[in-house]
Amino acid sequence: MRTVSGRTDRVVVVGAGLGGLACALHLAGSGRQVTVLEREPVPGGRAGRLGVDGYEFDTGPTVLTMPDLIAEALGAVGEELDDWLDLTPLDPAYRAYYPDGSTLDVISDTTRMAAEIARVCGPREADGYLRFVDFARDLWRWERADFIERNLDAPTDLLTGNLLRLLANGAFRRLQIKINQFFRDPRTQRIFSFQAMYAGLAPHDALAIYAVIAYLDSVAGVCFPRGGVHAVSRGMAGAAEKHGVQIRYGTTVTRVATAHGRATGVVTADGEFVPADAVVLNPDLPVAYRELLPPGRQRRLTYSPSCVVLHVGSTQGYGRIAHHNIHFGRSWKGTFDEVIRRGELMSDPSLLVTNPSRTDPSVAPAGKHTYYVLAPVPNLDRAPLHWPGDLTRRYADQLVATLEERGYVGFGDGIEVLRAVTPADWAAQGMAAGTPFAAAHSLFQTGPFRPPNLHRTLGNVVFVGSGTQPGVGVPMVLISGKLAAARITGTVS
Ligand SMILES: Cc1cc2nc3c(=O)[nH]c(=O)nc-3n(C[C@H](O)[C@H](O)[C@H](O)COP(=O)(O)OP(=O)(O)OC[C@H]3O[C@@H](n4cnc5c(N)ncnc54)[C@H](O)[C@@H]3O)c2cc1C
Repeated sequence: MRTVSGRTDRVVVVGAGLGGLACALHLAGSGRQVTVLEREPVPGGRAGRLGVDGYEFDTGPTVLTMPDLIAEALGAVGEELDDWLDLTPLDPAYRAYYPDGSTLDVISDTTRMAAEIARVCGPREADGYLRFVDFARDLWRWERADFIERNLDAPTDLLTGNLLRLLANGAFRRLQIKINQFFRDPRTQRIFSFQAMYAGLAPHDALAIYAVIAYLDSVAGVCFPRGGVHAVSRGMAGAAEKHGVQIRYGTTVTRVATAHGRATGVVTADGEFVPADAVVLNPDLPVAYRELLPPGRQRRLTYSPSCVVLHVGSTQGYGRIAHHNIHFGRSWKGTFDEVIRRGELMSDPSLLVTNPSRTDPSVAPAGKHTYYVLAPVPNLDRAPLHWPGDLTRRYADQLVATLEERGYVGFGDGIEVLRAVTPADWAAQGMAAGTPFAAAHSLFQTGPFRPPNLHRTLGNVVFVGSGTQPGVGVPMVLISGKLAAARITGTVS
């Protein structure tokens, strides 16, 4: 494994996103003196917080998987997960709603899930599910060790026994084709393949290696921290500070200072120079290259689709929904084609509706409710739509009307607070192509082909977060923190 050159005693981490915080914890655990400089007044970055009139909303991730990775980051400084977070496993993890009016609960317990699939789709489909679980569990085991939780320096690093196992098991075929080998019912085909969208691709374009995402949320389980997912950011920041990491909020870094092919520190918007032996950059990777580092030629990347999120505080409650609800439209391949290939808004939307106040009433005023509605939309590279103003209002109205048609009776009338976040907002927050989901996980933007976490020429600059390896989403970003720290310490903690 390549590591940064020279001394590494004092490290400056730019950004207290989950990637930056995980890196800071691992570095502090190995005795480095760590300073985190964060632009915002709170930690978490995309996993942030929006408070309006007594309603508290998570601004980013809501589907929290793999809490053992949070435990591992906290464990790097000797802290226990239970002392920082109160996690509730969600049962069901999701409820799926189909256009024919049927519903399917996604339950992490495989025996109960097989029974649920048998109830909705018949016993043969349940057998397919059990075979899928074995397949996806093996995939996760093979991918995790060799390709995800490992710093890859060259494509030849991929040549391991597990690569052969993946090839032999069809992991490099298209995801949808592979999923259809286990499932015959379009409802199960959808619920175990839509996660490709998290990787920025349609199931008919993504590789079957991404079945691991369905494994992580559908089988390994989804949990919810009391106070919302932002509590993860606060917990990690609190533990880091307790162990000597200095976190300076409200501090924007404007450039990395360099001399003789090395970073010497960073310069803040106030003109302060903060010296460092090594610098870790958590801002969106293409933006870090463009705005913080000396000019150089940049590789052109293809980005994941973006999303519009509606944060709704409401007087309306719905007894029959779950914490996470996925509403599928009639169209399937056509929806992915609209958003990803043609750069159009969904004509027949598939939506994620999360209802956090159901699990934790403290996030809404007494007797009231919070909803988080996520609609995939094209990124600004694919469709440079003019979001501010009229389009946002019309699209929000359209989403509310769609929810009313799909059974959320009186949804519009119940709204007390509504905030719509669009690709224009993600771009304003410094996310390339106006998407919070970074470069898509196509084959040549995955593993050793994804932008590396060591700067090409500056020997002591490291990247962390969803723009680098291994990729997007809370679990991957936590792993990226560990991998970035390993580039500095030379060992994976
Ligand atoms: C709407 C939405 C829904 C999502 N849903 C899920 C989900 O359900 N499950 C899941 O696993 N993942 C989900 N994700 C993805 C997940 O949130 C991200 O992959 C992850 O949080 C990214 O973390 P990061 O550390 O890479 O970056 P960020 O969170 O962006 O952190 C970067 C930090 O750097 C700071 N910064 C930037 N520039 C500067 C500067 N110049 N000076 C100082 N500080 C700076 C920023 O303020 C920020 O705090 C979702 C994301 C969004 C936005």
